[in-house]
Amino acid sequence: MDCIFCDIIEKKESAEILYENERIISFLDIRPVNYGHTLVIPKTHYENFLSVPQQDLAALIEATQMLSSAIVKSLAPDGFNIVVNNGIAAGQSIFHFHFHIIPRFQSDDFKFRPNLKTYGDGTMKEFAEKIRLAVTS
Ligand code: 5GP
Ligand code: ZN
Repeated sequence: MDCIFCDIIEKKESAEILYENERIISFLDIRPVNYGHTLVIPKTHYENFLSVPQQDLAALIEATQMLSSAIVKSLAPDGFNIVVNNGIAAGQSIFHFHFHIIPRFQSDDFKFRPNLKTYGDGTMKEFAEKIRLAVTS
């Protein structure tokens, strides 16, 4: 299987690595939304959020929080986004799970302005019921 992120993990492909431990590795995104845009990925190849097991997910979340803090300390952004794209329709282009940490500035030109919908009569309840039926605990 061809995966550029697996190549980075195996050091077959170069990257600006920021941090790694036995479960995860973090490096700069090659085409940043803003400078310092960082990726945090598991060392095992999982396609998306749904396929990452709990232990790796916990390690990813912990590292993502630590790296967000490092970005805030070192780059002093006005804010930051943590983003995950799952599936082509959601903008995923590399099918090895990753968190994006995107430093944000008041004046930056990255806009996320969806055309927000309004629920029609009773439809909010219908959607909630559909999802509740699928919830597992
Ligand atoms: P996605 O679109 O799947 O959510 O995000 C994939 C990200 O990986 C993109 O932001 C893209 O710029 C980044 N990327 C793709 N190829 C490489 C690469 O070879 N090296 C690095 N450092 N980042 C990459
Ligand atoms: Zn991979």
